[in-house]
Amino acid sequence: MATQLALVRGDITRMHVDAIVNAANSSLLGGGGVDGAIHRTGGPAILEECVKIRNIQGGCATGEAVITTGGKLPARYVIHTVGPVWQGGDKGERDLLSNCYRNTLTLALEHGITTIAFPNISTGIYRYPKEEAAAVAIETVRKFIAAHPDRIATISFVCFDEENYGLYKKQLSYAI
Ligand code: ADP
Repeated sequence: MATQLALVRGDITRMHVDAIVNAANSSLLGGGGVDGAIHRTGGPAILEECVKIRNIQGGCATGEAVITTGGKLPARYVIHTVGPVWQGGDKGERDLLSNCYRNTLTLALEHGITTIAFPNISTGIYRYPKEEAAAVAIETVRKFIAAHPDRIATISFVCFDEENYGLYKKQLSYAI
């Protein structure tokens, strides 16, 4: 079965999937934006596992990903990945953002995850230009699917804001 790409407008904490992805920061101790929403809705079990990971490996580097329980979320797992802070585009931001999507999907395969939902990593507090971030996300995910055919059933892009939703709709050529 071919992997489906889906576009969703809304709150990622409500997604009934195997794993949702968190746009975390390198401390793994929670923050604002989608990170805050995930910890608020998922409850303390997520932070407890983040603290354990921190104690072992000292946080999470930009572009890398770690996995925890989903706690009280409908999703079984949360994969926390740390997007790059936009610094003008000549600090390797594009590759780092691409690494987030690829490393998250690699971790998902290792855990037998077949349905996964991504937020628009780095496009909030980290100020990555939204149109470029959408292009990196879609290109990286498409390449991953081509390299790992039939392993993942559905990959959803969950857009919280109208602007991102419009950009993804255009770039995914959705006729809605
Ligand atoms: P970053 O620090 O990586 O920029 P943010 O959480 O500030 O992370 O923003 C990343 C994206 O997540 C933004 O596009 C923001 O609109 C979106 N976002 C915020 N809350 C939610 C939510 N509950 N569900 C899905 N996306 C969200």
